Amino acid sequence: KAKELGKNNFQVYSSSLNAQTYKIFTLESSLRHAIELNQLELYYQPKVCPNTYEIVGAEALIRWNHPEWGIVSPDEFIPLAEETGLDIEIGNWVKRTTCIQNKQWQDANLPKIAVSINLSANRFLEQSLITNVVNVLEETKLESKYLEIEITETSLLENEKIVFSVLEGLKGLGVKVALDDFGTGYSSLSSLKRFKGLIEILKIDRTFINDLTPLDTADSNFIAKMIIQLSQQLRMAVVAEGVETTDQLEVLNNYNCDSIQGYLFSKPVPASDFEKLLRKGKLMPEEMKRVEEKFT
Ligand code: C2E
Ligand code: MG
Ligand code: MG
Ligand code: MG
Repeated sequence: KAKELGKNNFQVYSSSLNAQTYKIFTLESSLRHAIELNQLELYYQPKVCPNTYEIVGAEALIRWNHPEWGIVSPDEFIPLAEETGLDIEIGNWVKRTTCIQNKQWQDANLPKIAVSINLSANRFLEQSLITNVVNVLEETKLESKYLEIEITETSLLENEKIVFSVLEGLKGLGVKVALDDFGTGYSSLSSLKRFKGLIEILKIDRTFINDLTPLDTADSNFIAKMIIQLSQQLRMAVVAEGVETTDQLEVLNNYNCDSIQGYLFSKPVPASDFEKLLRKGKLMPEEMKRVEEKFT
């Protein structure tokens, strides 16, 4: 009886393992072809001044348009890309496409803004990143101040020598580095201290923004307020991520947050749609738009 059960268990385990392996295998082989088949696309999300609602920047966010699965989000395929080394090619594609696109907008006389890209830790921690960035900027004729690189704390925990030399190299080029998802890692404050002057932008993670209330005295507001003050002391620009309500916007404006990113102003949108937003130059919070529609 026990033997039978064991056998059954093994069969169940083995077949689900196979299904899982098969799924990863198909995902990996389709991802391998995604670039050449033109299935990757960059969406752009505006960063907005909390005071004037002007677009002051954008973040490029990758999407995979799969013919059967539809739009696949980066959280689903970037980890796999990192495991399989496919993120080298993807990272290069993201960098180049962003610079080409931004230069095209500038040549069309749209407001000039910096566009940031996200780099995984392994793509950041290599000396070749610097020559790579130099080459892309040269090829696309984009000025270095219009390209920014977002990294997370994990990128800073590895080989200290490489981290410093890459950060110094980028600083020398005039390409700014932003610390993404700030506050969610486990060395946030010491990272700020060690890399002072080399990391020039801080992005407050949306978990801290979610909890903001209109009450300045609320506990949940203290952390965001403190992070903003801290970055001002360290001469870093602060971006708030995941801003969804006008209450959050107002609080962040009171705290002198430099820019706002979130669904309140716009979700990440395809390049052609972003161009329309940039042409307007100024956005209106979605909530206000709805209120306005009611009265017109
Ligand atoms: P991230 O860099 O922190 O990007 C912000 C994420 O928050 C984006 O998710 C964006 O769509 C989402 N978001 C923006 N505003 C709001 C809001 O108001 N509410 C909510 N709930 N979410 C908001 P997305 O585009 O799915 O990207 C997820 C993550 O995937 C990114 O987090 C980034 O770590 C990674 N990623 C995206 N594109 C790339 C890429 O080209 N290369 C690499 N290596 N990673 C990327
Ligand atoms: Mg980011
Ligand atoms: Mg983030
Ligand atoms: Mg993230």
